[in-house]
Amino acid sequence: MPGRWLARLLPYTRVFAALDADKAGTLNATRLAALSARVTPVRVPAGNDVTEYHQVGGDVRVWVMAMAGDDTRFPLRVVIPPDEARLPGLAVPAGRWQQPLTLPNQDDGSIVVVYASAEEMAVCREATRVCGERANTWSSCVDNIVKPIKLISNQNSQKCGRTLTVKKIDTLSLWRRIAAVIPLVMLLAMGMRLAQGAPVYAATLPTRAPDSLTQEAVFSIAWNSGCATPPAGAVTALEYAAGIWGVTLASPVTITVSACWTDALPCTGIACGDTASYARNFPQAPMVHTYYPIALANALSGRDLAPAGHDINVFFQSELDWSFATDTAPTTGSDFVTTALHELAHGLGFSGNMYESHNVGFCGNGPYYWYPCPSPYDRLVVDSQGIPLLSYMEPDPRVLGSKLKSDANFGGPNTMLRNNHAWIKLYTPTIWDQGTSLSHLDPSGASSYEDTLMYPTLPSRLRAIGPVTLGIMQDMGWQAAGDAPNLTSTGPMIVGANNPTPFTADLLWAGYAGQPMTYTWTGDAHATITHTDQISHDTALLTWSTPGIKRVFVTATGIATPTAATRAVLVAALNVTGTLQGMAGQPYTFKAALLPPAIGFPITYTWEAAGQIPVTHPDGGADDTVTWTWTVSDTQQITVTALVADATITATHTVHIKTIVFNHWVYLPLVQKQ
Ligand SMILES: [Zn+2]
Repeated sequence: MPGRWLARLLPYTRVFAALDADKAGTLNATRLAALSARVTPVRVPAGNDVTEYHQVGGDVRVWVMAMAGDDTRFPLRVVIPPDEARLPGLAVPAGRWQQPLTLPNQDDGSIVVVYASAEEMAVCREATRVCGERANTWSSCVDNIVKPIKLISNQNSQKCGRTLTVKKIDTLSLWRRIAAVIPLVMLLAMGMRLAQGAPVYAATLPTRAPDSLTQEAVFSIAWNSGCATPPAGAVTALEYAAGIWGVTLASPVTITVSACWTDALPCTGIACGDTASYARNFPQAPMVHTYYPIALANALSGRDLAPAGHDINVFFQSELDWSFATDTAPTTGSDFVTTALHELAHGLGFSGNMYESHNVGFCGNGPYYWYPCPSPYDRLVVDSQGIPLLSYMEPDPRVLGSKLKSDANFGGPNTMLRNNHAWIKLYTPTIWDQGTSLSHLDPSGASSYEDTLMYPTLPSRLRAIGPVTLGIMQDMGWQAAGDAPNLTSTGPMIVGANNPTPFTADLLWAGYAGQPMTYTWTGDAHATITHTDQISHDTALLTWSTPGIKRVFVTATGIATPTAATRAVLVAALNVTGTLQGMAGQPYTFKAALLPPAIGFPITYTWEAAGQIPVTHPDGGADDTVTWTWTVSDTQQITVTALVADATITATHTVHIKTIVFNHWVYLPLVQKQ
């Protein structure tokens, strides 16, 4: 990339860089990752780069949205060299493309996509296809493609026959200067296999129940050929650690791990681990609008939601004196199995994605990082008063920032059952430590020796998962494998306010033989419901009066190992406004507004009233209007129905229509003063 880009990129707080999976790309990616802890590697689900991902049928828009979120405030900005913009097949509305190097001087939050080669025109056409060719569609579409990221697609001389004008070292030098000032979101695409078909995403998948919820998880580990060759001991020890998680957690879908042996970790410390991607609002997601790490999303769905990509990335420092022992006999060196257990836990979802910067708390939309937020973990973090930290985002995110540096605890119901009914303290040093704060247990927390696994500093040698750590995993949605009791729950993702809605809980436990069970339903802003019965199934009618995202906890007690399940539901309300009185023959406009305004699902409005033809508006936004005229005097009831995904939210409005009576004029006597 020419050095002139530096000046152009400096105003931006977020850069999305695409690199190839070839040797040079992998080398540069590794070097870039080592430049700054603010670099976050992500990978396309299939293919070697964004172009190949498109070519194998990947939906670039879906993927970018999954990585970048769907904040509708930020437009997509496309930058393309003018000579290439004239290529056939590039049907972009006139005026929608910007000239290169005419980026705005201030970060306006837009996504910038720079296409630099004919090869990458394919991606450009994908953007065109996604956003449509007509100006009106384009506008609303780009408004829905999101986020303050800039997608800078690099030149690829091999594929498009162009000559790169900058030496590699210059590129790296430029990135080093950028990394010094810009938190960098980096796209790595190394070592990926080509997909056999288009990747599929949860929202469009048919529902299928898992074959077995308590089936032990199987891990499939591939060492990244773009990294150094690991010693045989590391290979064996990682398999061993994965096996410990495998007998601890259940999944009917194989969990795929990409491991990298390298002296240039993309994190500080001796190893790092993270989920490779996320899925949200898939049919079996217990929590609405929540980014599930893909291995957990697969386990909940009973199928591989992202078959083209792996699920977990782990990196290990190759220059460390490791002990690869799988038993616990005394050895020297850092214990690889314990480290691997810890990093796999992060990859399985033990990770908070809220963060603090300059005393402000962020969830997903901050200027310095962007992580899919909230994760299931984030939803269950509370302060010492038991208040969810996420609820501090508004009205003042500085309060969230303060809590993230002082007072965060994991408050899921399984965790509390395993921790004497108390939440467990999370690591929150007074100076935010990105990647460490929030995502680890505080060393002061009283817990079993095995629960020291998720302390920020590793204990010497662990070969099992502790009860609190397992409780946190279960609270996020994982089922415990083997003979452990599990509770699963079902219920809608969206409900109407003041609309009693059934939720169910099922005890999955081979040891259940009809003993009495107590099911207790608690959560945000609904009445506590308790049922005691001798069955392994329970139903509760839950009602909320206020809109917003509410958590639902159900606990099954009465057995030696009580268990719980967590859901989160979006409670929506519809508010209809308009005149209360009117006259026949006059048009009146009525407005229906959804609360919360950002629903995030397709909305269809239907308006009905006596004497009027019903009006249906698909693809509705946060509000909708209708204008009606009545011809006769009567009291009219207007019924508005908002169909949000599968949920029906209804509200009514009553208007009294009167007929104008022309012979009722009132005449005032005129008195002429003299
Ligand atoms: Zn860690």
